[in-house]
Amino acid sequence: MKAIVVGGGIGGLAAAVSLRRVGWEVVVHERAAAFGEIGAGVGVMPNAVRALEWMGVADEVRRLGTPRVSGGVRASDGRWLTHLPDVGQEKVIAMHRADLHGVLLRALPSEILFNNAEVTGVEELDADLVVAADGINSRLRAELLPDAPGPVYAGATAWRGVAPGPFDLPITQTLGPGGEAGILPLGDGRVCWYVATVAPAGADLDPAEVFADWHDPLPELVRSTTDVLRHDIYELPLLPTFVSGRVALLGDAAHAMTPYLGQGACMALEDAVTLAAVDGDLARYDAVRRPRTQAVWKGSRMAGKFGIEVRSLVALALRNFVLRALPASMAVRGMTRFSSWQVPAMPR
Ligand SMILES: Cc1cc2nc3c(=O)[nH]c(=O)nc-3n(C[C@H](O)[C@H](O)[C@H](O)COP(=O)(O)OP(=O)(O)OC[C@H]3O[C@@H](n4cnc5c(N)ncnc54)[C@H](O)[C@@H]3O)c2cc1C
Repeated sequence: MKAIVVGGGIGGLAAAVSLRRVGWEVVVHERAAAFGEIGAGVGVMPNAVRALEWMGVADEVRRLGTPRVSGGVRASDGRWLTHLPDVGQEKVIAMHRADLHGVLLRALPSEILFNNAEVTGVEELDADLVVAADGINSRLRAELLPDAPGPVYAGATAWRGVAPGPFDLPITQTLGPGGEAGILPLGDGRVCWYVATVAPAGADLDPAEVFADWHDPLPELVRSTTDVLRHDIYELPLLPTFVSGRVALLGDAAHAMTPYLGQGACMALEDAVTLAAVDGDLARYDAVRRPRTQAVWKGSRMAGKFGIEVRSLVALALRNFVLRALPASMAVRGMTRFSSWQVPAMPR
């Protein structure tokens, strides 16, 4: 059986690795001039680690990344809202996105990877299975589900980068008025960070100014980074199906979500493994993946309402009070409620 994967991001490459593992012949078409990833971090959650384990690449991911437990959540003035214990938590692997992408790329033979290979329609693809992993603005999704609405601005804009350091910091999330920040330390002293603020799309803002009075070392992380990436945050309204004929939508093409749970790329890894575990049975893929990813999508939206979107001082004080009052065990359960996912059993 032959599969064509459209898109060579984390989702597309993971699909290629997974399908080859169950015997499919696979090629990957990527429209960019080279296979690569942007300069930012990713937290590989325990659910995604299990997917990578199934693909046979988890050891290399652990070697290149930094497995750590989360330190908890802070307020923008630095007070701890939830200080998490080391015990009772599964580790998250903090790593550079290019390293995760590189692990998947190296697991594939170069002769099946085609760059400068933009796909313009499903008709041109001669395969038993087409995996549309072409991202949030998926051209294949627009062709197959023309009535489905496209991405919608989620009301916030984000900046990301890798600060050179050296810093010795725990993994943390910070919540402040109309904003949030995340710190993901790499093992070598560098720190992947992101900051996001509620703002109109395309707003002319300087993150060094917006986050100048947030707790240390956030302002320094932003100021000391030379390549800062800016992304307005979009989400894809829930789709009625992830499949059409012989095509499966995967990753952001199927369920682009806000980044507040840090699960977008992790969902793409789960999709990839599931597609292989059901051996390309698209009805089963849709039945298994749509409820799961749409629950995480809704959870992420809820995390935004309780996090970045809280702006008034009264609401902020109330939210912070609730977080501080939570027992650590409940906070851990809340933060990890989507990470207990297991790879579905193989059909045969
Ligand atoms: C600010 C921010 C922070 C985030 N933080 C996290 C995090 O901490 N953890 C996490 O898990 N997720 C996070 N995410 C989400 C994560 O980045 C995405 O979910 C993930 O990268 C999606 O991967 P993908 O392979 O589906 O799509 P993409 O990475 O978008 O890849 C799509 C690929 O398809 C190619 N392509 C597009 N059209 C065509 C075509 N017609 N023909 C051929 N190729 C094509 C593109 O060039 C691209 O390489 C974050 C997102 C944002 C915006």
